[in-house]
Amino acid sequence: MSETAHGVLAGLDEIRDLGADPVRGGYSRHLWSTAELGLREWFVERATRLGLGIDRDRNGNLWAWWGEPGADAVVTGSHLDSVPGGGAYDGPLGVVSALDAVARLKARGFTPHRPFAVIVFAEEEGSRFGVACLGSRLMVGSLDPAVAGALRDRDGVTLADAARYAGEDPELFGPDPAALGRIGLFIELHVEQGRGLVDLGSAVGVASGILAHGRWRLSFEGEGNHAGATPMIGRRDPMVAAAAAILAVREAALARPGTRATVGRLEAVPGGTNVIPSRVQLWLDARAETDAEAHELVATIAARASASAFVEESWSSSVEFDASLRDRFAAGLGGVPVLSTGAGHDAGVLAAHVPSAMLFVRNPSGVSHAPGEFAELADCVAGTDALESLLVSVL
Ligand SMILES: [Zn+2]
Repeated sequence: MSETAHGVLAGLDEIRDLGADPVRGGYSRHLWSTAELGLREWFVERATRLGLGIDRDRNGNLWAWWGEPGADAVVTGSHLDSVPGGGAYDGPLGVVSALDAVARLKARGFTPHRPFAVIVFAEEEGSRFGVACLGSRLMVGSLDPAVAGALRDRDGVTLADAARYAGEDPELFGPDPAALGRIGLFIELHVEQGRGLVDLGSAVGVASGILAHGRWRLSFEGEGNHAGATPMIGRRDPMVAAAAAILAVREAALARPGTRATVGRLEAVPGGTNVIPSRVQLWLDARAETDAEAHELVATIAARASASAFVEESWSSSVEFDASLRDRFAAGLGGVPVLSTGAGHDAGVLAAHVPSAMLFVRNPSGVSHAPGEFAELADCVAGTDALESLLVSVL
């Protein structure tokens, strides 16, 4: 195995046990959990060993600077948190590859001509508090810090309290023009969440854009009662209404080619096998090529689902990455494919504010947000090669 191959593998290997989920399989690395804090510690240690200077911003994001922080910086990185039972590559691959690229550049005596940082964004998946890309949204000012601070996790803990527990100051959360203003260019390397590169026969690709996507919480109220003593006729069972809504979600998306709608989470109160629930909540994830299509899709679902509440928890407009950067990067990498993605990313949040680009690494199964997510070592190395050459071209 070559020296460089060892770099990516070693990085992923070092964090292999952090947040491994014995119940769901894969990883559950939720914001400020023991596992996620362990990953942050690992990052700080790894970056420090590379001679990078650690900087914690106001919104829980970690920066590792090569030299002095400054304006017009090149920034690369991704996130370390995961969905419940997620894969090993979504997020960490971008961080590990960034650190590996730094190690390689240092080994060959390269000196950046502009400020450069590796970044780890907080709560990209929104798995703990329901809002995806929380750290980048707070930084750019597209999420109200008061709203963010009051978000609650499944145990009822507010984001503000969880932040304090993790040693962050929630009073400081909010728009951070100083941090954002330093980014001259952002590059995020990410495992592909689909089979686009498999079909195109390429280890690496460049992103063109991201689908519009959002999350909604639907509530169904009923009357809790005994599963055996309550006759079938006359029940007010909110699970039945929820089931009808789930079917409507699928039908609405099938009727609009290119759109995607998913119910991946459902909670029944009180949640007993022998109890008719008194309330059911489910979460809808809907995506489409354009904002208008996504809104139409959700409006159709809202009209068909007899929910007592239909609340938007998160919304991300469709993203078109900087076209000149995209074309320059694709050409610079020897004409690698340019493709869009249905998955959201911090790069998508930043794209509205600073020139941003994404590199995708082939995922042979196309599976993501599940334990089966995978990338071949050779493709991970090709990803780091590509990131390294792009960094050299802009630094
Ligand atoms: Zn990700």
